[in-house]
Amino acid sequence: RTYLDYNASTPLRAAARTAMLAAHDTVGNPSSVHAEGRRARAIVDTAREQVASLVGAKPSEIVFTSGATEANNTVMGAGWKSICVAAIEHDSVLAPARACGAKVVVLPVGTDGLVDLASAADAIAAAGSGGRALLSLMLANNETGVIQPVAEAAEAARTHGLSLHVDAVQGPGRVPVDFARLGADTLVISGHKLGGPRGVGALIVRDGVNLPALIKGGGQERRRRGGTENVAGIAGFGAAAAELAREADVAARIGVLRDKLESAVTAVTPAAVIVGRDAPRVSNTMCVAVPGKLAETLVIRMDLEGIAISAGAACASGKVGANAVLAAMGLPADITAGAVRVSLGRETNEDDIAAFLAAWQKVAGGAALAA
Ligand code: PLP
Repeated sequence: RTYLDYNASTPLRAAARTAMLAAHDTVGNPSSVHAEGRRARAIVDTAREQVASLVGAKPSEIVFTSGATEANNTVMGAGWKSICVAAIEHDSVLAPARACGAKVVVLPVGTDGLVDLASAADAIAAAGSGGRALLSLMLANNETGVIQPVAEAAEAARTHGLSLHVDAVQGPGRVPVDFARLGADTLVISGHKLGGPRGVGALIVRDGVNLPALIKGGGQERRRRGGTENVAGIAGFGAAAAELAREADVAARIGVLRDKLESAVTAVTPAAVIVGRDAPRVSNTMCVAVPGKLAETLVIRMDLEGIAISAGAACASGKVGANAVLAAMGLPADITAGAVRVSLGRETNEDDIAAFLAAWQKVAGGAALAA
């Protein structure tokens, strides 16, 4: 099998697995005062430092959650009067924003995949003058890989008095994530997108920002997230973060493979459109559509050839139809219905690219078109 769906989830790093097994072999509630409890607390605190260090935050700013979805829900549910949100945000931002009772202002996105903050300037200013308001913008889009103008968003939020939230799930290892410099009040990352386990994430809350707990309970995580901590999951997340922080050249190496892949795909299928190609993009993602070919069919046929890719976000798969992110970019129906996402990662090598291209030739290439 050839796994090319890293934006959906990544293989568990050996270091994360080792840390998780060791944590599972301990007993004790991190809130207990006895030695066993303190040992469990120490595991969580070490991971807190590792995650904080990866994203340029202070350990006191990290709140461990069950994943980025919970972290995004926590931020959206914080009693905003209005929320300005990019049209291409992940559903874990859009759905709670729409459900929380705030006025939702959807910010437009260009065909290049970049949110258009300039044409939304008046709407952002109006939201800021109307009371407690949030601006939410992702760091890199999970479908297209397009890197969003978060520094400009921080400037707009500061100017107009909005709080800024950044979904940075697709960032670590691909674009520098520096919470202290970003100017955001809150940021989220997810364990399983960086070689950690599924079901654990971090909500990063700038010191001094008041954010009520979504999950109320025993006052864990400095009263920001009730419930006994997922000690093993957190340990694995921390170990993955620490290892990632030491890796320097992975994104560049993957970028070479991705660019090679894109050139070969356009050679095999000259009608193919690479979405977001002209915008700043993370180096691991290719979003490609061949007009006349349906995304679901491509994904299933590639799967039968042993290649794992995706059509739309994994959590939205099963829904047949237009890709919501590409529709928000205003792309035509044959692109939104046909786009597949191929996302590479740390373990991807030349053989994976060759295997993909052999299958692509069969499934989407000229011979397949004629058949
Ligand atoms: N935000 C983005 C941009 C994502 O790509 C994902 C991935 O599914 C999520 C949020 C949700 O993360 P999690 O699986 O940790 O809930």
